[in-house]
Amino acid sequence: MQPYAQSVDDVARSCAVSPDYGLASDEATRRLSKHGKNLLIETGGTTFWKILWEQFTSTMVLMLLAAAILSLVIGSIRDAISIMAIVFLFALLGFIQEFRAERAMRALTKMAAPNVRVRRDGEVIELQASQLVPGDIVLIEAGNVIPADCRLFEAFSLSVQESLLTGEADAVEKQIFPVFQEGAPIADQTNMIWMGTVVTTGRGAAMVVATGMRTEMGRIAGMLQSVQNQWTPLQKRLDRLGKFLAALAVAVAILVFGVGVWRGEPLREMLLTAVSLAVAAIPEGLPAVVTITLAMGAQRMLKQRALIRRLAAVETLGSVTVICTDKTGTLTENRMTVTRMVSVSQLMGKADEPTEVARLRAVSVLCNDVMLRIENGQNIVVGDPTEAALVLEGAENGIYRQELETFFPRIAEIPFDSATKRMVTIHEISKEGLLHPLLEKWNAQADDRLIIAKGASDAILAMCIEGEAVHEQINRKVDQLASQGERVLALAFRLMRNVEYADPEESTQQLSLLGLVAMMDPPRQEAGEAVHCCLKAGIRPIMITGDHPLTAQTIAAQVGILSPGGVLTGPELDQLGLRGMTERVQDVSVYSRVSPEHKLQIIQALQDRNEIVAMTGDGVNDAPALKRASIGVAMGITGTDVAKESADMVLLDDNFATIVSAVKEGRTIYDNLLKFIEFSVAGNLGKILAVLLLPFLGLPNPLAPLQLLWLNLLTDGLLGLGMGMERSEPDVMSRPPLAPNSQIFDRAMLRHTVLTGGLIGLTTILLARHYWGSHPSGTWQTVLFTSLAFAQIGQAMSLRSRRFSFLRMGFFTNPLLLLMVCTVVILQLLVVYLPVMQPYFHTMPLTLNNLVWVLVPGIVVFTVLEIEKLILREG
Ligand code: ADP
Ligand code: MG
Repeated sequence: MQPYAQSVDDVARSCAVSPDYGLASDEATRRLSKHGKNLLIETGGTTFWKILWEQFTSTMVLMLLAAAILSLVIGSIRDAISIMAIVFLFALLGFIQEFRAERAMRALTKMAAPNVRVRRDGEVIELQASQLVPGDIVLIEAGNVIPADCRLFEAFSLSVQESLLTGEADAVEKQIFPVFQEGAPIADQTNMIWMGTVVTTGRGAAMVVATGMRTEMGRIAGMLQSVQNQWTPLQKRLDRLGKFLAALAVAVAILVFGVGVWRGEPLREMLLTAVSLAVAAIPEGLPAVVTITLAMGAQRMLKQRALIRRLAAVETLGSVTVICTDKTGTLTENRMTVTRMVSVSQLMGKADEPTEVARLRAVSVLCNDVMLRIENGQNIVVGDPTEAALVLEGAENGIYRQELETFFPRIAEIPFDSATKRMVTIHEISKEGLLHPLLEKWNAQADDRLIIAKGASDAILAMCIEGEAVHEQINRKVDQLASQGERVLALAFRLMRNVEYADPEESTQQLSLLGLVAMMDPPRQEAGEAVHCCLKAGIRPIMITGDHPLTAQTIAAQVGILSPGGVLTGPELDQLGLRGMTERVQDVSVYSRVSPEHKLQIIQALQDRNEIVAMTGDGVNDAPALKRASIGVAMGITGTDVAKESADMVLLDDNFATIVSAVKEGRTIYDNLLKFIEFSVAGNLGKILAVLLLPFLGLPNPLAPLQLLWLNLLTDGLLGLGMGMERSEPDVMSRPPLAPNSQIFDRAMLRHTVLTGGLIGLTTILLARHYWGSHPSGTWQTVLFTSLAFAQIGQAMSLRSRRFSFLRMGFFTNPLLLLMVCTVVILQLLVVYLPVMQPYFHTMPLTLNNLVWVLVPGIVVFTVLEIEKLILREG
């Protein structure tokens, strides 16, 4: 029989597990080896072969292969073979880089995979979902992604969104009783929960009945496209740029070939020139360098506690113009302490009875989900910080939930939700409970139900019977506390007379207010500085919180976010409508009493103004906003699984300052990529000029295709990797964000590229011309070949920064680049001086004197670029 049709006891028996104790760990190990890991096996070819295949089928490699075949036709087999060897090297380089990038990203995704709470050996532990076995007892709550197919045996207000399996967008309510319907469709198996679906409210406990490929998800896993390794916008634009350059190269090559043949040059010579031209122009190293630079950037961000889930986020971060952030936990420490408890009597200006505050404490501990543990005499709490503060306050005064619950067992609840901003619990009253001091003067009876609500003062007052006059008094007190930056909760209760079963709907009406609790959550120390850093970088920080407007305003002022636009509240947003909002978002930086839906509207309004928005979130209903934002940022500590899975980036420390450091890293990476692109294109331009112009000076076939490929390998392939690791320029965070979708080549960059390329071409051509005739024949070619390699070392060293001198950047601050420079020098000297290499590379050994001359173009390029920076800075 299927688990859904069985009773809980029967399922437990067939799974051989006791729900209270869970599996014994040795039994779990045994089952794991029998059933295998709880993983969906990826279908389709392994990425290893896919990446390899892509390397050999890229446009560039195909063009190079065509060049190799052409050289075979017109030249020697040796040429063709060595070209193939270099093409192979490039493909290998690309493969290694892409594979490393892929692995790095996969490791990151693994880190982001949620843990599961499991009961084993009678204790609740956290496990990776892959370790689950049939029979495991899992505990789930709102925000969890369900880790396997399970049969529920406990469910409190539990609802699950199953659209992945059923297509039904609305969440389904779950329960624990058997469903007697033969062949019930998944949607009707309301006591089952399925791998990959999402808990939207409530909590529950369940027995795992199927794992891995035997789950419903596993059955359709083959149909689901595994997540495509998507290209980032920059990669797409670069691919277009690369293809454009390649097409241009072919066009120029054909033109040169045509003109040459028409002028009566020998066919073979002209073919060689044409092939060389095409080879020189293709930026072979570009794709690999870009991929690995992005992936390594993601790893550097991880060291700063920002986990990247989508590679595109690395570059989008560089263009962020607005950061919308939560208050609690992101800007504040999320370590709350209760500062004051105010009873209704006090609120009304009457003398407080001593029991009233005690009652407030008791009630705030009862309507609470946080667990208290005592370890080495220390009170340890885990869970929501707001509730933790209440539990600690209770414990200090000798009030514990476990004890209270023996008098007042909880029978139902309406969980906290950031849209309603309140939590309600419903309790039975035991016989002893009737005598408990909590109920003193309330005159409770045996069948009464105790209802307790806690939440935002406006949300609670809306459920209370107190009149307008009282509301005014209370609001005055709330405002007073909130304007000191305190977070205020209101507590209310109701006794429902003589009911067997308290209806949750009815339990949110006609409550009586008990009092207020104020708690303090100080701003994080680093928040102020991070905000300042944002403003300097042209990024507007915006605070969005569910808290009271005055609390929000005070904290915002303390960290420097508050702008003259003041504070807008959720209800005010509702009145404004989207068009009104679009006008206001420009100068309002603090939003309070908002619900998750408002977050979506705020993003929309900002995006209508062409802002690039980063948005933080932690709850289940933040997921749409996280997806909608250009950069969705989930909280690593307090965030739900759903929030993390919808986000582009996860803050491992929940800290606002971490977003700012990630933005800085993103800008740096984008900078480095742009510099590398300029480096590569300008270098190729220099080579093209040499190949194109030298024949006009009477120097035929200056560079063979193989030599050009070799040069590209040294420069784009090796130096480029070093350039990708460059550190931030001193002004990264004091200039405005990058315009989104801006051209890779803006005017300044194009001009600079042409100038640098021209300079490289000119200096090396002059040097070659000087050597031609005056030295043993063939020397000029080796001189040209080598000086081109060294010219680009000078270019790379200067391009470490576009505006700051290399001294300012520090000579030893990019060790990888220095290592690459040494490697390039050694490799180039090897092909010049190693006799076995000489026939392949058409080189001959240079004298020491010649070697000094070969350095000159590099030195000139470096000096001119440095002087240019000097002039630009002065001007
Ligand atoms: P934020 O995270 O922006 O501070 P929340 O959505 O967490 O805002 O909370 C909004 C309001 O809901 C708070 O001001 C508080 O009054 C109330 N609240 C917060 N947490 C709880 C809770 N666990 N139980 C009841 N009410 C709560
Ligand atoms: Mg919160």
